[in-house]
Amino acid sequence: MHFEEKILTVRTDPLHATGIDILQVNMGYRCNMACKHCHVQAGPAREEMMDIRTVEEVLVVLNENRVKTLDVTGGAPELNPFFRYLVEEARHAGCRVIARSNLTIFYEPGMEDLFDFYSRNSVELIASIPYYREADVDKVRGNGAFRKSIDALRQLNRMGYGADKALNLVHNPTGAFLPPSQSAMEKEYREDLKRNYDISFHSLYTFANIPIGRFREFLIRSKNYDKYLRKLTDAFNPETLQGIMCRHLVNVGWDGTLYDCDFNQMIGLALLDRYPRNIRDFDHHLLAGRQIAVDDHCYGCTAGQGST
Ligand code: SF4
Repeated sequence: MHFEEKILTVRTDPLHATGIDILQVNMGYRCNMACKHCHVQAGPAREEMMDIRTVEEVLVVLNENRVKTLDVTGGAPELNPFFRYLVEEARHAGCRVIARSNLTIFYEPGMEDLFDFYSRNSVELIASIPYYREADVDKVRGNGAFRKSIDALRQLNRMGYGADKALNLVHNPTGAFLPPSQSAMEKEYREDLKRNYDISFHSLYTFANIPIGRFREFLIRSKNYDKYLRKLTDAFNPETLQGIMCRHLVNVGWDGTLYDCDFNQMIGLALLDRYPRNIRDFDHHLLAGRQIAVDDHCYGCTAGQGST
């Protein structure tokens, strides 16, 4: 059964947003890594990057002060030359700023002061580290990725991240299976990272891999696509519908196009026709109660304990 129909078996109406707590901005698809399961298919050769005009349009929306949180993502958002300007201006506008970091970015040329920049601007970090064992991380991210991530986490801890500054981690499974219980996995990460590396963090989020991008290609190549989708549909949990991110945020693509979430952005599934399509036409009232554009990849957000 398609996701759209499935929703109507547990609700009387299609999915709608319940407000806009967060403006999630994708600054571009360039990244210093090319992880095997990246839903963005990001990498060093990607050229899509948000320009200054679009950044200014994002700031116009934030300065209206009705959306209180900016969530910056990519690729590696830090590689966008206007990233720091956006963060600083958003902080001046009184916004809470969250950045999604891959941790290895701290060791790229030109990023020497990134730790200080984040700390100075009280940016909250959501850092992805697929697992707490070196071999598993390097298999997905490339040799040396785990060591750099550990070094970055230690340095962040020294600066107060994981204590008075927010540091949350993200775990994705490395294959065609659902993530284990978030609380059990958080306990494992916490104990292992503390014991072996003296690292602290606040919370761990476990996300199912959404079957799009490189992960979809991997599933098709390994003949696991149908099986994985069946796993997701069988695990559909209506209780996750309240918390899925599309109901609480608007996502902005690198070119200013608006989406219901970053996953929809990656498959080019725009907002439904009756809503503004670009950040320059942002209309808080219309967007806060909009109907969400869904498709079968949405089963990835609603399987088991949910993924957003
Ligand atoms: S992929 Fe997830 S967050 Fe995006 S529209 Fe579907 S259910 Fe919502």
